[in-house]
Amino acid sequence: MDILKVLSRGIKPTQKSKSHQATALPSAGAAPHPQLFHDPVASTSRGKKRKRNKKQDDAADDHNDGDGDASDIDYFAPRKPAAEPTPAETEDTPKKRKIKLLDEEECRQILRSHRLKFTVLSEIPPANDPKDEPSKSKKQKKEDKKDKKDGKKDGKKDGKKDKKASKDSDGKQEGKKDEKKQIYPQPLNAFGELHHSYEVSAKVASNIYAQGFRVPTEVQLGSLPLLLRPAMALKKSSVTIPGIERGADFLAVAPTGSGKTITFLIPAIDGVLRRREELGRSADEHVLEAVIVAPTRELATQIVNEGRKLAIGTGVRVVLMKRTLRLPAEEVEVEGKNEDASSEASSDDGEGSGSDSDSGKEDNDGVKPPARVDILVTTPRTLLNFLTGKRGVRRTLPAVRLLVLDEADVLLDPVFREQTMGIWRACTHPDVGLTCWSATMASSIEDLITKQLAKRVGHGSSPRPLIRLVVGLKDTAVPNITHKLIYTATEQGKLLALRQLLHPASSADSGPPLRPPFLVFTQTIERAQALHNELKYDIPIEAGGSARVAALHSNMSESARSRVMARFRGGEVWVLITTDVLARGVDFAGVNGVVNYDVPTSAAGYVHRAGRTGRAGREGGVAVTFYTKEDIPFVKSVANVIAASERQAGRTGEAAAVQKWLLDALPDVPKEERRKLKVRGVESRRSQAGAVAISTKSKWERQKEKRRQQAIEASKKRKKQQRKRQEGEENEGGDDSGSEGGHQEEDEWSGLDD
Ligand code: ADP
Ligand code: MG
Repeated sequence: MDILKVLSRGIKPTQKSKSHQATALPSAGAAPHPQLFHDPVASTSRGKKRKRNKKQDDAADDHNDGDGDASDIDYFAPRKPAAEPTPAETEDTPKKRKIKLLDEEECRQILRSHRLKFTVLSEIPPANDPKDEPSKSKKQKKEDKKDKKDGKKDGKKDGKKDKKASKDSDGKQEGKKDEKKQIYPQPLNAFGELHHSYEVSAKVASNIYAQGFRVPTEVQLGSLPLLLRPAMALKKSSVTIPGIERGADFLAVAPTGSGKTITFLIPAIDGVLRRREELGRSADEHVLEAVIVAPTRELATQIVNEGRKLAIGTGVRVVLMKRTLRLPAEEVEVEGKNEDASSEASSDDGEGSGSDSDSGKEDNDGVKPPARVDILVTTPRTLLNFLTGKRGVRRTLPAVRLLVLDEADVLLDPVFREQTMGIWRACTHPDVGLTCWSATMASSIEDLITKQLAKRVGHGSSPRPLIRLVVGLKDTAVPNITHKLIYTATEQGKLLALRQLLHPASSADSGPPLRPPFLVFTQTIERAQALHNELKYDIPIEAGGSARVAALHSNMSESARSRVMARFRGGEVWVLITTDVLARGVDFAGVNGVVNYDVPTSAAGYVHRAGRTGRAGREGGVAVTFYTKEDIPFVKSVANVIAASERQAGRTGEAAAVQKWLLDALPDVPKEERRKLKVRGVESRRSQAGAVAISTKSKWERQKEKRRQQAIEASKKRKKQQRKRQEGEENEGGDDSGSEGGHQEEDEWSGLDD
């Protein structure tokens, strides 16, 4: 195995080897164009051409210029600013200009070209019936109808959903939902508008700029005006939404790596700053106004880091929830037991097996003064433990005005639902807003949110409209990555295939090769550990040896997990073997590939795992999925997602990763099976034997070897006894260390075998 060829590139990188490496690492590009969709727009019904914003185009061109030359791409490099600001842009920042609002048709064209679709999910009073819309042209109405039709097609489940890829986003507009209205809010043409048009603090605007962000991604372009100044964003809208000036609850379904994090952070920081100004609070007065919930610690930590970068110089404190943190909360007496059964709640990390080391409840009834927090980022259980930790008392967070659920579909999935609901209930302010974010969203989750919002209104909350944004085709992987579905027949076949992928020559003829750094996903913690043990000696010492391969799962301590994350981000670890704990949200800019060593247990699982590569529009990422004979009954959902993603990317026929014949040949997965699979995974991989199956040697080989070892041992024993007998009386003693070693090995095998 000539693994050295690939992996030794990292030893003491010289200037020369650095540039060589850079060309070899396609998705580590430092200045990608972050937008995924930019369809040309034909002239409108009124004969107008879509006006592209000059500044945006210039910025885009700057990015494109950078793309051509990959030689200065640095492996895992921190993001460099794409280009120096143009004088016009720097001048813009301190000045406030009045915004020129686009008319509805222009908004519609821009949103459409970026495949953005806004739907009002809450009821709109009949005054807004489409028939009453005076400003709509015939053609516009016709196109609206087409949108709905497309939405209908895309909205169908799984296999059927993909029958025909639509250019526009999914509408989930079946049945009565057909009535739901589409709206066309003002788009954000350039980040500069945040300050001079939407009155976001100049500090926040320059912090965005300092991070090198020039062109807003689709989700940023669509959501920010609506979330920051809803009345202004919808000023030209022909649909009047009562109460919109108070803000809307928001549900965004946008691709992985498309910049959702700053899209929810900017309005959160802006809200704190605006209220500070309105109420005349001083900069060192901190009121917990926003809570951001994320399913894993790694993701929560990442959000805090992003938040702090955006809040530099504003005095807004973005804090990670810890067990020992005392929050400013109100205490409500409850009779008997706490209503939230948090102690029985499962791990924060959404993994089937394994538990966390910090699962003990902490009674936060300390004497410490409450922490100074404006925006809290937390995993569900850590905050719920604080809210319900004190016997006989339930704590509430009455000042919270914004609840953000990142990876909302998983937070509202049964695994986390009770914990998330518990937090939502604790946000008792009648005007608390909700925003939900994910790359995937089942309609059942949307229904749950709608019902819960209605219930809260029943309990005295002010009604707020619920608006959904879908970017692109719902529940698909990003179009800028390549998918490979590889049949390995057996478990052993997977290990061989993984080693093949590491070999530079092997994949040259089958599309883009998989290059380190990459992530490998297994179904269980035990399998991640076993695969780690199996692979760690594959890397030659000269290339860094076993330090280049690491595992991360929720059976590890918090500090061990963050050490591995730091080593992976730092480029020290090249192959990170993990479970679904890292499937969602975590952003590693330079990850070139993802290997699904075990088939993901749901279509959404595939979208999120694959989405760890190709972040922020980076090209060249590869997602490889192995499947065995055993997986065939389940693999269709994954194949469907790949097929839909390929169509969205415009790759069809021979160019597609999943050929039609394969799609047709794979059996459909019955709904009940899909549900079971999502909860439990593939049964045979759950047990101890599932971990043992990860070995280069087949079970038959292991047994054969075991028998051979036993035979050797027996023969040695016999010889030894014979020798002893011969030497017997006259010469006692002898060396038996070899035999000891053999026994030890045999014991180890017999402990694991079967
Ligand atoms: P998501 O939450 O949608 O999966 P993230 O918010 O984690 O995506 O963003 C993915 C990456 O894109 C991050 O590294 C982020 O800093 C970067 N990013 C966000 N917005 C932009 C932008 N407008 N231009 C370039 N990069 C961006
Ligand atoms: Mg995210």
